[in-house]
Amino acid sequence: MIIVMKPKTSIETINKLKNKMESLGCQTHEIVGENYSVFGLVGDTSKIDRSQIQANRDVEKVIFVQEPYKKANRIFHPQDTIVKIGDKQIGGSKFSIIAGPCSVESKQQLISIAEEIKESGASFLRGGAFKPRTSPYSFQGMREEGLELLKLAREKTGLPIVTELMSADKIERFVEDVDVIQIGARNMQNFDLLKEVGKTKKPILLKRGMSATIEELLMAAEYIMSEGNEHVILCERGIRTFEKYTRNTLDLSAIPVIKKHSHLPVIVDPSHAAGLWWLVEPLAKAALAVGADGLMVEVHNDPANARCDGQQSITPERFNDLVSKLKKLANIENKEI
Ligand code: PEP
Ligand code: MN
Repeated sequence: MIIVMKPKTSIETINKLKNKMESLGCQTHEIVGENYSVFGLVGDTSKIDRSQIQANRDVEKVIFVQEPYKKANRIFHPQDTIVKIGDKQIGGSKFSIIAGPCSVESKQQLISIAEEIKESGASFLRGGAFKPRTSPYSFQGMREEGLELLKLAREKTGLPIVTELMSADKIERFVEDVDVIQIGARNMQNFDLLKEVGKTKKPILLKRGMSATIEELLMAAEYIMSEGNEHVILCERGIRTFEKYTRNTLDLSAIPVIKKHSHLPVIVDPSHAAGLWWLVEPLAKAALAVGADGLMVEVHNDPANARCDGQQSITPERFNDLVSKLKKLANIENKEI
């Protein structure tokens, strides 16, 4: 961190700030110019309150050298993190596919989809039991009953289950029942919830907020990791832009950017990004090409009658076709499905 003082700041004022920084465990190195005094901070700056320095009336500007996230930062952890879930994994040489309906609707619906996606090559089953809906009048999910059906589908297929946790009061149940806990886009900055899942040992699928920067996503991961849970999988699911032809805009560049700055695995959700079923295939192929560690795809046996997100859900047949195309691409990228 580099602190530039206002022109003509007195030596006493500069020394006061320098002493404060040193008392927080940093070394300071000063450059005195004709008009400006500048000093650099070396050491662990993660505990320094940046906004407090910026609020100091004697400070002209602050230049940040180190990113504010530490545990998620590749600098301190150069090798890729691989999150293990039973005999499955996300990260490394694997391109892992999570698939399933937006929401669990019935036993018959869930089991038939789970069997079909497994047959096609999916490694995980997704399905919302507690649904974050924009309208309180929309279907809110089957809740506890939905969790029971997910467990049944896991028993029948062996596929680990991924489902969204919306509030901390259900955390014990989720730790007990679920293989990967999903934190949805709308809760990416629910810091209390992040801290609570950080206290567990469960793998966490953290979705990018719809108007969150990459740094904010990594800081959300940092909340989880700072509590001791380092099994975090990131998910790019599209961000809000001015574009209206798609539900969100898939930020494909986020994948290589995250890979450069962080060691955490990152997957892509083309379904929520596009909001349109016919865009799922091209976006899924693009995700593989830009280096994603996997996908989360919404699959429904009867999209026209789905209780949630039918417009972006692909049928099991189309999913099967998609996976066979992705297998060919994965070969080129030295990834395994
Ligand atoms: C979901 O995956 O079911 C979901 C609601 O996605 P998001 O949080 O990305 O909107
Ligand atoms: Mn959905």
